[in-house]
Amino acid sequence: MMKEAVTVEKIRIASIIGESVVDGPGFRTVVFTQGCPRHCPGCHNPELLPAKGGELISPAELAERVEDNITPLINGVTFSGGDPLMQPGPLHETIKILRKGIPELDIWVYTGYLYEEVKELSVMEGIDVLVDGPFEQELKDITLPFKGSENQRIIDIPASRNTCAVVEWERNDD
Ligand code: SF4
Repeated sequence: MMKEAVTVEKIRIASIIGESVVDGPGFRTVVFTQGCPRHCPGCHNPELLPAKGGELISPAELAERVEDNITPLINGVTFSGGDPLMQPGPLHETIKILRKGIPELDIWVYTGYLYEEVKELSVMEGIDVLVDGPFEQELKDITLPFKGSENQRIIDIPASRNTCAVVEWERNDD
């Protein structure tokens, strides 16, 4: 089981993009965090692996930048990287601020950890969907929506927490 790190005040991010259609359903703002301990062959963001670099900002500032991007056309926010769960404390603080300001915001997080390793982290209480597991080049499938390789799971976190099982997210475009 992954241990929760001591909360650090700031979060290290690499960039924010205003509109993406490949990191979850609809148009989404995406925050790329800086730093990932893995070196998956074929990683699509190798420049985001070093734990140094990028920009260190407060959760309040990050939340404000995300909120500045939210328009009626934006369905939600996705945290990608790098691995956002390398920084669970400030990520949680950021999500709490976002939830307070926009309760209906759809929040997705990509991670190289398995759900079973991170499910006890406090930050999980604020996440709607977790795309878990490292990218595995031999299982790469470019036809899969919202994930790079077959081993990754798109997990409905509230449903999984309620049932104590892994409940995969189901697309509902109604
Ligand atoms: S977990 Fe994701 S960001 Fe980290 S090395 Fe693997 S593919 Fe790259």
